[in-house]
Amino acid sequence: MTGWTLMIHGGAGSMRRGKLDPAQEEAARTGLDEALSAGEAILSQGGSALDAVEAAARVLEEDPAFNAGRGSVLAHDGHVECDAAIMEGEKRRAGAVAGLRTTRAPITAARRVLENSPHVLMGRGGAEEFALEQGLEQVPNTWFVTPERRRQLDELLARGSEAFDAEIKYGTIGAVAVDEAGHVAAATSTGGLTAKRWGRIGDSPLIGAGTYADDRAAAVSATGLGEIFIRTAAAHEVCARLRYCGEGLQQTLDAVLAEIADMGGSGGLIAVRPGGEAAWSFTTPAMYRAAVGSTRARQVSVFGDE
Ligand code: ASP
Repeated sequence: MTGWTLMIHGGAGSMRRGKLDPAQEEAARTGLDEALSAGEAILSQGGSALDAVEAAARVLEEDPAFNAGRGSVLAHDGHVECDAAIMEGEKRRAGAVAGLRTTRAPITAARRVLENSPHVLMGRGGAEEFALEQGLEQVPNTWFVTPERRRQLDELLARGSEAFDAEIKYGTIGAVAVDEAGHVAAATSTGGLTAKRWGRIGDSPLIGAGTYADDRAAAVSATGLGEIFIRTAAAHEVCARLRYCGEGLQQTLDAVLAEIADMGGSGGLIAVRPGGEAAWSFTTPAMYRAAVGSTRARQVSVFGDE
């Protein structure tokens, strides 16, 4: 392997051609393009997949068009609570944070857990204390809140239901990459689900559920109804199937999402293998997604038929 590949997602959902607000579509396409460029700048200089997925995720966290960092969906009590994870495939080192309310860069906090702590997953106050000790910027929770996310929460609460939004728009962001050395890495960051309650934590920060990387198989990032991705250990399941069943990458992603659909979940997966092969799959009408590589033309897509 002498090349590199980067693939990202900005969430799977019910976006439909002609129905999606053109300004929203444009903002998402621009954001995806900028995230690709951030990762590409690293990978094309021989940088690591781990650095590239963090850089791409940071761009998407800062972009209010996506449900991660600023622009995250609101929990039931009106706060933003961010989850994030990052993992590299060579030594399978991983770091993750859950329920962060004040750390501006959740994916970087996850990276610091990977690099500078003996732990894998830190939650809530302790994770924020750690992030602060690491010198990461803290912001008021209101910094993450956008008027559109407030409107979405108010609309859901007005329906008076404990059920999640039926026309759910998943918005988690993720990045997977393989670098010139043939190592893979994955990053996922999210505000979770609108109106989530009781300190709910989704699949994104759980290693093996929403995020996994293994040089023997692939780097994987998920978006969708997190509860089902947790119960299927989706990202690890992709890697296990690749290692033990010898199926192709596309077939594997489709099979794992079919299992998730059977259990009542929908969403999407992106994955890249150490050999450079990359694929995405989703069971929603659309998924914000993009890819670029040393031997792969830049592609930014939203709708299912693109
Ligand atoms: N998977 C995320 C979660 O359940 C939601 C999403 O993909 O938007 O927290």
